[in-house]
Amino acid sequence: MSNRVKKGDIVFVRTGKSKGKIGKVLKIMRKDGRVVVEGVNLVKKATKANPNENKPGGIIEEPAPLNLSNVMPYCNACHTGVRVKSERSSGKSIRKCAKCSAVLEYK
Ligand SMILES: [Zn+2]
Repeated sequence: MSNRVKKGDIVFVRTGKSKGKIGKVLKIMRKDGRVVVEGVNLVKKATKANPNENKPGGIIEEPAPLNLSNVMPYCNACHTGVRVKSERSSGKSIRKCAKCSAVLEYK
């Protein structure tokens, strides 16, 4: 597997209508092979007003799930989505860019 995407990662969308976009992984549905990325693949959704929560009704935009295979971890050094290699360092697994070997950390 070259596509080890985790929640909180910054990913690059490599195909589809959101191609080239970058965003943070909000949710992963491994079973369905889907991923929700912040600000990517936005769909308009109608919401009802909720006076209890003081929310007005209207149209909101929400990210819709993408195929997990359409995203790759984003490398800050390469400025694109990259394959990842894992290495062990003092008992911990760290992820590195397979291209430039930069450590991929998303905090
Ligand atoms: Zn890189």
